[in-house]
Parts: sequence; structure tokens; C-alpha cells
Amino acid sequence: MLLLTNAQLPDGPLTDVLLRREHIHAVGPVGSLETNVEHVDLTGYLLLPAPAEPHCHLDKVLLGRFDGQGRGDLESAVESWYTARRTVSRADVRDRALSAASKLLAGGATAIRTHVDVGETTGLMLVEALTEARELLAERLDLQIVAFVDFPLRGRAGASNRALLADALKAGADVVGGAPYRDDDPSACLDILMDTAAEAGRPVDLHVDETLDPDSTTLGGLAEWVLRSGFPHHVTASHCVSLGSQPQELVERTAARVAEAGISVVACPQTNLYLQARGHTRAVPRGLTAIAALRAAGVTVAGGGDNARDPFNPLGRFDPMDTASLLVLAGHLTPRSAYDAVSGAARTAMGLARTTIEAGAPAELLAVRANALADAMADAWADRAVIHRGRLVCRTWHERVFPAGRSPGARGTG
Ligand SMILES: [Zn+2]
Repeated sequence: MLLLTNAQLPDGPLTDVLLRREHIHAVGPVGSLETNVEHVDLTGYLLLPAPAEPHCHLDKVLLGRFDGQGRGDLESAVESWYTARRTVSRADVRDRALSAASKLLAGGATAIRTHVDVGETTGLMLVEALTEARELLAERLDLQIVAFVDFPLRGRAGASNRALLADALKAGADVVGGAPYRDDDPSACLDILMDTAAEAGRPVDLHVDETLDPDSTTLGGLAEWVLRSGFPHHVTASHCVSLGSQPQELVERTAARVAEAGISVVACPQTNLYLQARGHTRAVPRGLTAIAALRAAGVTVAGGGDNARDPFNPLGRFDPMDTASLLVLAGHLTPRSAYDAVSGAARTAMGLARTTIEAGAPAELLAVRANALADAMADAWADRAVIHRGRLVCRTWHERVFPAGRSPGARGTG
């Protein structure tokens, strides 16, 4: 058992929370719960359901400095990555993935979904590197691997990529992935990807319409596919950028069908604000999906960190609070909705149960130094404690050192 004491809840008084095995056993006023157990004093900390990272690329992260190279758009980033991936080793991929996952965990993410390239260039090597990382991280977080298959996929030319996708699922990948909108025949690719997932009994998480081109309408096609087939596994559509450029009537119609199909959408503000709209010089569009319309239709919209320190994004701190902040500033969510996008909604998009702070809920928690949610997001202090399956799995501090007699809160006299 583990007792968390003096924790501030977002909407409540100071509280004690007792954890038993992998769940929250009891929540009560300070001093009201069993005290003869190991405890963590959370005075000064806000206690939240732990974030989850629903969309990242741990095979690409921390590749090096790519800022200022290429055109800064998606195609240029893909070219740089395709060159770089020819020379990466399994050990290098595993170690970069471990490093990034540890940073995400320090930020509070106790579940991570990573897309991992699968195809003729790298075979299954990147998936194998990630399954190795997953084993090493197993005590501290849950890692889901999406087999992000290369093109071509159709016809004779696509036979070996199709075979590699099926092999990746046998080799440890959990989810079927791909980017059908990038093919000349998105709907034929969609058929292949969805049929593969149906046959293997796996969920799907696709890169969908990662372009400002309003004619890219794979999202609607995906919704129709799911509704027509009664596909029984969870479906997630990541990016969906073009939806934000389409006429309102089409956006609303698509959003309604996406809601009906039970598809979750993951917006990736960090990478898409960086990559999209490079050709625009004024009134630059935001590379974000139609967040408000999707939410109004009842679609679960999560926020993902996507790329960091690779050709797709030269920056990134692997902190879910950063993704949430961008959803407030660029996506116009409230801090509360933005935090839900990187926690509860993120778990839904990953096919996991939402977490709450009440008896019986999974003990997946983040304590962060703050009094209120907006402060937690704005300050994003490194001072955090992360609970996974009822155990403290990560604790970080930052040290504040001030000259004697002077603190930032006290006005000095000279
Ligand atoms: Zn992605």
C-alpha cells in the first residue's frame, strides 16, 4: 500500500489518497486514512490523473540537429528521415527511445503509443528495437507500438510491405498504422490496412490527412469504412489537418460520421504548427484539425506530442504540459479541456480506460508542484511525482537556490 498525503485536488480540498496494488483504494480528508503504510507527502503539489502520450515516434526522436535544414515542411522532413533511417542501428534506436520515454515519464505519461516505421528499407528492425525498449520500461510505463507501414502497399509492388506489416504484428507491434492519404489511391490503401487489422484482430491508428489541402478527405472515408463494416476494434485518426481547411458544412458532416463511428482523433499541435503552412507569408493557417467542430459532434479529441528533436521538429521537451499549453494557445481549449486531451482523452484514443481520482480507479497519477491546473500548465515545474500501477515510478525536483536573505517573494532593501 502507498499513502499520498496532503495532495491538492483540482476541485477539492487537501486530500489523502490510499493506493492498493494497481488501484486507488480510498480517497479522504487529510488524516482520515490508514497511516501505518509507506507514504509520500504531496504538500504543495496538485494531484491529477496521469497524462498519456497517444502519438509519438520513438524511432525518430533525438536524432540530432535538423533545424535550418531542408524546407521545414513535411515532405522535406520525410526525405531527411528516409536518408537517416538507412544508417540507424537497432541499439541506437532502442537507446533514443528509452531516453525519450524516460523524459515523457518524468513529465507524467505512464502510457505511451509510438508509431514505428515498418517496410522494405528497415524491415522489422525498428519494431524489434522498440519491443526491446518496451521490455526494459515495463515496470515503469505501458508502451504501445503501432506498425507504421511504408508505401507502396497496393498491387505487386506492395506485396513485401504488406507481408512486413503482418510480420510486425506477430513480432510485437500492437496496432496497425500507415498513412493512406499519401497514396494515389487512399481508399484502396485504407481497404488493405483495415482488412489487415480485421484479420489480425487489432486496433488501428492511422496518419490521416496531414496536409492543409482541403481535398484530402481520408477521414470521412475512414468513418464510412468503419460504419459500413462494423469494425469491432478501436480506431484512431491522427493529425486530420485538412479538416481544419474544409468548408464548415463538410467539416460538420464529417465530424458527425466520425463521432458515429466512435473514432478518436489525435491532434499534434507541436509538429503540425511547425511543418504546415510553410508556403504562406501572411495570415498563416494553423496546422490543426477542426478541434471545436469535432468536440461539438462528440468526438474524443486527444493531444499528442508527435515528433521531437528530429527532422519533423527541431525542439520539444517531451512534456505533456507543453502539448496541453499549445492546445490552449493555438487550439483554443480551456486549460481543463486541454489537460483532459493529454490525459483522459489520450487514454481513450489508446483504447485504455480513463482515469479519475476516486476509489476503484486505476492508480495512474501525476503530482506536480502547483495550486491549480492552469498554474501547473503555465509553470510546468520539474517538481513531479509519477505513480504507475500504484507505485511511485519517477520523482523529479528542480533546486531553487537564492542568495541568503533574498527570495523572489521578498522585496530586498539593497
Ligand atoms: Zn506522427
